Amino acid sequence: MDRQQEFVLRTVEERDIRFIRLWFTDVLGVLKSVAVAPAELEAAFTEGIGFDGSAIEGLTRVYEADMLAKPDPSTFQVLPWRGSTHGTARMFCDILTPDGEPSLADSRYVLKRALSRAGDKGFTFYTHPEIEFYLFENPADPDKPLVPVDSGGYFDHVPRGTGHDFRRAAIQMLESMGISVEFSHHEAGPGQNEIDLRYADALTTADNIMTFRTVVKEVALEQGLYASFMPKPMAEHPGSGMHSHFSLFEGDRNAFHEPGAQLGLSPVARKFIAGLLHHAPEITAITNQYVNSYKRVWTGAEAPAYVCWGHNNRSALVRVPMYKPGKGNSSRIEYRGLDSAVNPYLAYAVLLAAGLKGIEEGYELPEGAEDDAWTLTDAERRAQGIGALPSSLEHAIELMERSELVAETLGEHVFDFVLRNKREEWNAYRQQVTPFELKRYLPVL
Ligand code: GLN
Ligand code: MG
Ligand code: MG
Ligand code: MG
Repeated sequence: MDRQQEFVLRTVEERDIRFIRLWFTDVLGVLKSVAVAPAELEAAFTEGIGFDGSAIEGLTRVYEADMLAKPDPSTFQVLPWRGSTHGTARMFCDILTPDGEPSLADSRYVLKRALSRAGDKGFTFYTHPEIEFYLFENPADPDKPLVPVDSGGYFDHVPRGTGHDFRRAAIQMLESMGISVEFSHHEAGPGQNEIDLRYADALTTADNIMTFRTVVKEVALEQGLYASFMPKPMAEHPGSGMHSHFSLFEGDRNAFHEPGAQLGLSPVARKFIAGLLHHAPEITAITNQYVNSYKRVWTGAEAPAYVCWGHNNRSALVRVPMYKPGKGNSSRIEYRGLDSAVNPYLAYAVLLAAGLKGIEEGYELPEGAEDDAWTLTDAERRAQGIGALPSSLEHAIELMERSELVAETLGEHVFDFVLRNKREEWNAYRQQVTPFELKRYLPVL
């Protein structure tokens, strides 16, 4: 056993931890958990804990149902909402096949593999997400209209606002689990909030996003509320995006930065953005994976639908935030396409692969867009070379199916599974007769 593993064993004993939850995620980015007793930990570290993966979305093929979960000791944290006596802790796991090989169905492995490809070129990939979500009265019953907890708007300070207390409690809990929060505020929709995490390497960020969604849901329930990361829960209000900021470092130097260049952007950054734009449509089934995701993308409210980049242009898919002279290492770009219901491991893997492709192939970055892409006509967009994201999940699936980049990045198993799962979702959806259709057609047809 190594030192980190020994540290975990010692902490478990000293802090009276009775349950250790082993966390991993299915292919859709839904958190899975199995609890083990402290006595099992040593075996978990050396061999992994066996479980039947066949009932977990996308985890195994039928013939390899037995899987092993091997905890990553660097992710050990006590769960604050479980109390301090007879406590509960968690670790994220890697999923292995019975022979101890990384499982090709493990999302975390997909991201690790993408990061190591970047590592081969000398790059570390840093990300930080701005996570938006809604707070509703609990229970949030799908058969009744949703009731947001307040009627605040962007940056509103709601007196006696439920949102303040909620954000304070959630942030304290995140910080106590080693997740630093940079920024938090009320978002534009009623009951909508945003919490921005501090940057970290992409694997840590993806783990942190999984923890974040769990903490936010736990704290909400504790306060009698319901938190939702659904991309577009209410037609008349903005959706919940998960804009993410990216930078590549070479050692301790930010490779996106070049003093004196336009917006401080280095050639590496320009090619990375070009890669994101070029491949954006084919990776959208991953960054926006639900039928509902396209309701967010295509109803505006600052969600990007058109493929362009800009400085301070909030209709752009990629935005370059204000460049602060002397702060080269904070140079970064913001990808605004992602929604809050994403599988962060798969999404960061395909986004990184798209950016790296731009660098490898030397893609040319088109002119930045100054105008609000929504106000241009189709002809104007065409003239400026501005394309569009897929219009629906079905369209996104069609583009992903033909994508070598996505197939290569996800690997055959995850690629096939995602496509199969998403086709099923689309088929179920297209069989629905919705209230919209009844209201629109019944009176006249
Ligand atoms: N809610 C918007 C989205 O879905 C973002 C709003 C903002 O942060 N400016 O992307
Ligand atoms: Mg923000
Ligand atoms: Mg926001
Ligand atoms: Mg943003």
